[in-house]
Amino acid sequence: MIKRIVSLIVTLLLAFSLTSCGGEEYLDQVIYGMDTYITVRLSSEASDGSKISEERFSELCDECAYIIAKNERLMSSHDEDAQIYGINSGGVSMILSPNKELLSVLRAAEDMEEKTDGAFSYTLGALTELWNVSGGGPVPSDEAIAEALLHTNSSSVEFSEEKIAKSDADCKIDLGGIAKGHTAQELVEYLASEGVSYGLVSVSSSIGVFGSKDDASPFKVGLTDPSDTSGVAGYLSIHSGFISVSGSYERYFEENGQRYHHIIDPATGCPADSDIVSVAVWANNGSVADALSTSLFVMGVDGTSELYRSGEIDFEAVIITEGGEIILTDGIAEEDFELANDKYTVRKSN
Ligand code: FAD
Ligand code: MG
Repeated sequence: MIKRIVSLIVTLLLAFSLTSCGGEEYLDQVIYGMDTYITVRLSSEASDGSKISEERFSELCDECAYIIAKNERLMSSHDEDAQIYGINSGGVSMILSPNKELLSVLRAAEDMEEKTDGAFSYTLGALTELWNVSGGGPVPSDEAIAEALLHTNSSSVEFSEEKIAKSDADCKIDLGGIAKGHTAQELVEYLASEGVSYGLVSVSSSIGVFGSKDDASPFKVGLTDPSDTSGVAGYLSIHSGFISVSGSYERYFEENGQRYHHIIDPATGCPADSDIVSVAVWANNGSVADALSTSLFVMGVDGTSELYRSGEIDFEAVIITEGGEIILTDGIAEEDFELANDKYTVRKSN
């Protein structure tokens, strides 16, 4: 049982509702946290066949809000009380006896950095701060980018059960590409352990599903159409696991008619110049799905295909390219992807 610290619950619980969808009845709650909207959608039936009362649902959502606020306190680069904020702003600094969960996210980030050959970089905080995409830019100078790149280096960070230490005062950790997927997994594990028969959580671009429906039908996840974000490009059906989406169409600013998005190529220090406009990754681990969607965007279509063929990481992906193609990796069966928009054509990955 997670210990409740009321003062930690800074997260807002927004409208609760009961929804019917294809004969299934769901309890829905939207929670605000991590600068985004987080949706909890649960079957109104518990695994023992009883109905989940409004009061019970509210208890479950309070616990979810606690988990979200806790992770924000650990992993945010924006919240002054967060452990990562502290280490980022503290000069050459150190945290003694660091939180075990934070360590496990750092380990997952380090592992992903290795496996993607640096396309994923959890120490590019100096670059994300410099580009300030959420704040609307402006485009930094080449000199400032070169300077920030000098401080983007995971060998400046050392972590163990005893400490997290930084040898370069200007190196900054950014877990924005992995923390939401980690949180989606923690929420799913919590809800599944509480006797809910099935449901899903959506932490903005990271979605996790759990349990199985009475008719064993899959969960159908709509993938946003990057060229018209009010629409859907297609649907991916899954029975379990996590889907994370990264794209250039959601967080960006424009200057002199050019778009600058939030996914940075650690090799150049600039927004990744990718032939991908959106990539959805399906994996059985939330952190892997999240970190990988960010990485594949940087790696592009060929890099994704190479990583997939190497078998180094277990995942499937749906890529939407600049050219209007939707590319599916081999493990996605034809019946599991449904095209929803005839401006796209679908093909299998090379
Ligand atoms: P993803 O594609 O999953 O990841 C992109 C994000 O990962 C980027 O925004 C950047 O943070 C990072 N990134 C970029 N390139 C790379 C790369 N090559 N390798 C690794 N990481 C990369 N935003 C605010 O404006 N204000 C807040 O107060 C705030 N608080 C937050 C607290 C938490 C705990 C978290 C997780 C996020 C918060 N954010 C906040 C949002 C954050 O700054 C990112 O914009 C957000 O995480 C992007 O997630 P995504 O799933 O859309 O994109
Ligand atoms: Mg991601």
